[in-house]
Amino acid sequence: MRATRAIIRLDHFLGNLRAIQGHIGQGRRICVPVKADAYGHGAVAIARASLSAGVYCLSVAKVPEGVILREAGIDAPILLFSQPLPAEIPEIIKNRLTPLVSDGEFAAMLDQAASAAGIRLPVHLKIDTGMGRMGCSAADAPVLAAHIAACAALDYAGTATHFAAADSAAPDDRAYTERQIACFKEALAGIRAAGLDPGIVHAANSGAIILHPESWFDMVRPGILLYGYRMGSGDRCSDDAPLRVEPVMELRTNVVFIRELQKGETISYGRTWAAPQDTVIAVLPVGYADGLPRLASNQWQAVIGGKTYPLVGRICMDQCMVDLGPNPEVQRWDEAVIFGGPAPSAAELAQRIGTIPYEITCNINKRVPRVYQEDRGLGTGD
Ligand SMILES: *Cc1c(COP(=O)(O)O)cnc(C)c1O
Repeated sequence: MRATRAIIRLDHFLGNLRAIQGHIGQGRRICVPVKADAYGHGAVAIARASLSAGVYCLSVAKVPEGVILREAGIDAPILLFSQPLPAEIPEIIKNRLTPLVSDGEFAAMLDQAASAAGIRLPVHLKIDTGMGRMGCSAADAPVLAAHIAACAALDYAGTATHFAAADSAAPDDRAYTERQIACFKEALAGIRAAGLDPGIVHAANSGAIILHPESWFDMVRPGILLYGYRMGSGDRCSDDAPLRVEPVMELRTNVVFIRELQKGETISYGRTWAAPQDTVIAVLPVGYADGLPRLASNQWQAVIGGKTYPLVGRICMDQCMVDLGPNPEVQRWDEAVIFGGPAPSAAELAQRIGTIPYEITCNINKRVPRVYQEDRGLGTGD
């Protein structure tokens, strides 16, 4: 066992998947975003767990992320969310990735390459309804859809948009998302009026799954919700039965050293913390290079033996320190939990330092082994 490890609760992941499927109904498909190494949870393991649970497709942001899944023998459709470079088109074709197409120029490039390779490549049309990122305008959507449908080597297989503020229950954000949905529906109507089948229609991210049922269409794309976090004010304002999810990642380490510190002595770089009394300090072999944010210095805690102790002094690259107090029960080599499980979750750590749980779990470094647990809680029905 390694001192610092990320426990990945596959039982929680599968429970979250079931909860979301129950929430949206059995008739709708789920696309599992495994981009950024499945938000830090391990793309291949999460992909395999998802597919064994009957998920329809996966999505990645970058071409190499899709290649890793194919090399692991994963056969399911893989949507490619971000815009690749033309130089990456041969890999898209070789690995049968499904790009989201925002413009005619890229559609033509894909068509030419697919035709040269002698295959038909499925693509989805991406419409920008207010995110201001990728996608054609709603007004241009029927024309681009017709262009894709006319490409001999392309299979017009789906139509998508993405929301900018779907996780917010603030009235103006709700209204904005409703306008995005209306704009998307109008574009879909235009596509159908042109005699075209938009294929699988999808829009909802986690926030929209919670707050905007009319955005669910044929398929949803829950990322953060599958990994066990509910975002924003949506938590308190859901119109529906509460959708309960459990955090999938726990960051655990061990006490590797215990030392006494005299009143007034300081800890770590910059001497930002001085002992207010004679005390005992534990050293943990986890630092910002593992993904414990340096901004959490003097702002976070570790749970050891069921008790909570503050992190003191600056978090270093590879280590951090905990104040055990003058008469500690903690022993050298004891387990220490940084987040998840018995400790507050990555979402609470994120909130403490002004970021989002996505960034916390994505930033858990490659050198931290992922330890998959599927036996706890499985089959208990909760
Ligand atoms: C990452 C991503 C998602 C998932 O977003 P969450 O907020 O994690 O649910 C959905 N759609 C697209 C296009 C994305 O890039």
